[in-house]
Amino acid sequence: MSRRRQLYEGKAKVLFEGPEPGTLIQYFKDDATAFNNRKHGIITGKGVLNNRISEYLMMRLTEIGVPTHFVRRLNMREQLIREVEIIPIEVIVRNFAAGSIVKRLGLREGDRLPRTILEYSFKSDELGDPMVSEEHVTAFGWASVQEMDDIISYALRINDFLSGLLLGVGLRLVDFKVEFGRLWEEEDVRIVLADEISPDSCRLWDTATGERLDKDRFRQDLGKVEEGYQEVARRLGILPEATPRDLAGSETLQ
Ligand code: UDP
Repeated sequence: MSRRRQLYEGKAKVLFEGPEPGTLIQYFKDDATAFNNRKHGIITGKGVLNNRISEYLMMRLTEIGVPTHFVRRLNMREQLIREVEIIPIEVIVRNFAAGSIVKRLGLREGDRLPRTILEYSFKSDELGDPMVSEEHVTAFGWASVQEMDDIISYALRINDFLSGLLLGVGLRLVDFKVEFGRLWEEEDVRIVLADEISPDSCRLWDTATGERLDKDRFRQDLGKVEEGYQEVARRLGILPEATPRDLAGSETLQ
């Protein structure tokens, strides 16, 4: 990985220059952070699983007509993606009460919300990703009104589709975060789904037992974090063709 030019290193992923113009390579690390970077850890094998889970979900979404940045998986930890200009907002889709909304609005964790609720955060580590409204997004020009229309309709379609797909394997999609980007193709620019969709960015609860099978296992020190991610991959029928040594991901341990 050192031969390629690194363009960006985030908390859980690294972006490298791609093999041709307009492409990038997205590398999935085992690093995990929570609570605005105040908690750090390594979840062994997480990068391999998230690469595979995100590939699978993005491919299914492409099939139903949601455009994404995903091109193809390259290996255990890397995927080829189209280069996009990331819209600097996190779109949070909530079906059940969990996480920050529980505290903010005094809700009971696990209660179904009256309807699906969308929230937005301005992507800024410095500011701790503050929650903003659609008004802020369009007023400050982070996305146009037309782009927000696309983002909202894609977010709701992604939610409907993934809720059903996951329910079919005994998982409740409690909430999730997605990011979108602008893809330029000649004179044309359009909104596509970017980043990743994985147990790092979703809350997934077992429908029968309520067991958490996502990053909350790390956030709340519930233990067996990688087993949770593995269980999600197993239920989706996509456990990677990995050896225990590959899953150990020793190359990412600093
Ligand atoms: N989320 C995320 N990245 C963030 C913040 C939230 O992927 O920087 C996801 C989180 O995993 C959950 C959903 O978005 O599935 C809603 O998160 P919430 O606002 O409750 O924040 P949290 O309390 O998890 O920090």
